[in-house]
Amino acid sequence: MNQSAPIIVKVVVDRPLNDAFDYLWNSASLGAKPEIGMLVEVPFGRTNLVGLIIEVSSYTQINQTKLKNVLQVAPLIPLDSRLMQLGYFASQYYIHGLGETLISAIPKWWRTSTHWNKPLQQLIAKERATAQSNSKKKIAQNQLNEEQTHAIQILSNHQAGTFNTYLLNGVTGSGKTAVYLTFIESLLKLDRGAQALIMLPEINLTPQLQRRIQEHFPEENLAILHSGLTEKQRGIAWHQAMTGAARIVLGTRLSIMTPLPKLVAIIVDEENDSSFKQQEGLGYSARDLAIWRAKNERLPIILVSATPSSQTWHAVKEGRYQEIRLTGRVGGFQSPSVELVSPDKSSGSITINSKMISALEDNLHKNRQSLILINRRGMAPVITCLSCGWLSECNNCSSYMVMHRQLGHFKSPMMCCHHCGKVKTIPQRCALCGDADLQPLGRGTQKIEDQLQTLFPEAKVLRVDADTARTSKKSEALFEEIHDGSAQIIVGTQMLAKGHDYQNIGLVCVLDADARLYSNDYMAPEHLFAQLVQVAGRAGRFSGEPTQILIETRYPNDPVYQYIKTFDLAGFMENLMLTRQEAGLPPFGYQALVHAEAKQRQEVLAWLNHTKEYLQSIADTQAGITIFDPVPKSIARLGGWERSQLLIESRQRGPLQALLSALDQYLRERSVGRISKISKVRWSIERDPLII
Ligand SMILES: [Zn+2]
Ligand SMILES: [Zn+2]
Repeated sequence: MNQSAPIIVKVVVDRPLNDAFDYLWNSASLGAKPEIGMLVEVPFGRTNLVGLIIEVSSYTQINQTKLKNVLQVAPLIPLDSRLMQLGYFASQYYIHGLGETLISAIPKWWRTSTHWNKPLQQLIAKERATAQSNSKKKIAQNQLNEEQTHAIQILSNHQAGTFNTYLLNGVTGSGKTAVYLTFIESLLKLDRGAQALIMLPEINLTPQLQRRIQEHFPEENLAILHSGLTEKQRGIAWHQAMTGAARIVLGTRLSIMTPLPKLVAIIVDEENDSSFKQQEGLGYSARDLAIWRAKNERLPIILVSATPSSQTWHAVKEGRYQEIRLTGRVGGFQSPSVELVSPDKSSGSITINSKMISALEDNLHKNRQSLILINRRGMAPVITCLSCGWLSECNNCSSYMVMHRQLGHFKSPMMCCHHCGKVKTIPQRCALCGDADLQPLGRGTQKIEDQLQTLFPEAKVLRVDADTARTSKKSEALFEEIHDGSAQIIVGTQMLAKGHDYQNIGLVCVLDADARLYSNDYMAPEHLFAQLVQVAGRAGRFSGEPTQILIETRYPNDPVYQYIKTFDLAGFMENLMLTRQEAGLPPFGYQALVHAEAKQRQEVLAWLNHTKEYLQSIADTQAGITIFDPVPKSIARLGGWERSQLLIESRQRGPLQALLSALDQYLRERSVGRISKISKVRWSIERDPLII
């Protein structure tokens, strides 16, 4: 029988594995020729899996008779080579399997092979019809001021086909969005097929910007990508991006791996926001990947912020990024006045500060709204027994169960672990001594809401946190009550400070700011400063009396509070850079964590100690690498698992990368996936961790 050479395809699958697997390709039965980047279904062990072709050849090391056939092909354009390159880079840099990295970036709808036979065009046409029934009228844009025009001029000088990172640095209300939308508009006009990617840190921020983009580009098809969509919606939006049907893609961090055949620019709005970093699985930073992608595809990328990250600040100082500054405010904005207040001595931290109460009273009289910010949702962070001191600990985690006055569909008070999600009714009596005098300790959003309602029975008090704004519909309704002025006092978590423009805020009170500052997170000061600037930007955006901001702190001399009084970003950043440089912390050094968890703490620590020994035996001592001792995590027990970690620091990126790749290989040889064979420890390696 005269048969031509068989076609072999190498396929990666969504499993914690580094290997690719060989399959036979039958062009006749599959109805297509194999291409790199095709999504296929293959038999794998006793099941079938969706995989991605990364190589096509006629050669295999495996006995051909043992090879299985590719079963079917997804009705999709193969992922383009630049997207594959991004996947290879992310997989190497973040020490994650290539299959896991590339395939998990594809919407689940397409990873489900039963959807492949559904009539695609019909589905998309239907979805698009509903999307396009929205108003298509172009709203007149505000006249750009001189500074904005100048900023656009600088961006317009960007030479097509080259890479450059811009920092668009400006206070809230300085018109940054108008600048980048106008820039995108000019690029889309130049090339009828061109596409732009705009990334935002949070789902909550998308509806606002979506409206703004639709007003600016009434003719363009906009694709929205975030985890709050249904699988089908996300599948369709992704498909529209991939085919070029959508010219603007607006998405959260997961959108960075979207195939965009004619991408011409990337915008990362609120670039300093920690939500761009994924904590689980592929622990990537979408901001960092965006810069890599822009460089690889030779594009301009614009990082946008009122409080740039230390990383960005450093790069601007080194001349690697080009800064464009917007200093003025559009529309008669007045800077708020900041006052630091110390907590009341008598009542501890349980009640609202007396200074704040009188300021609230004043503000109500002036018919202006007040924002009360506290970074803890729920009623009280812990419940205690006044007789014996019992505390509401979670059985699964080394943390306390938080009291909620109501939670989801539970209408009576409940307690909930914010780490593992376990919900319990509050016991009538103490489990230890039987006393009935159980009391909430400390304060959260619900408690503050209750107290304010008691203090100001006439006022409408509104609470905005992850409990009341669980869905985007609910959160939009809440924000509507703020915008239309029906809520007078608004209590909430940092969710309140992000993205929304409020017109009539006269007073902002920040409670428990110190709790955030004095955690074991080296980035805490940077994040707190950014949050306070953000809060200030939300308030008093229009003329009238300036907004008053009261910050409750026991440590008024901390640099964060000193610099926030005059909104001195440059002063704060220079000070921060000095302390980071002295400590060798990012951006002056690089970090990685080895995470490990098991049912028994000794097992975890023994495994990490062994890992440390191995690292010491291979680390280049000349390269400035420090390997620390294993330590339990700040939440040492989570969902019944004992968790510890090992920190590695390095002065240079290269030697750290080499060390981690070697470690990954060493550990994989002794593991099934990422579970060690002998002690069953679950492990992972994280680059550039935000939380240590
Ligand atoms: Zn007790
Ligand atoms: Zn728990």
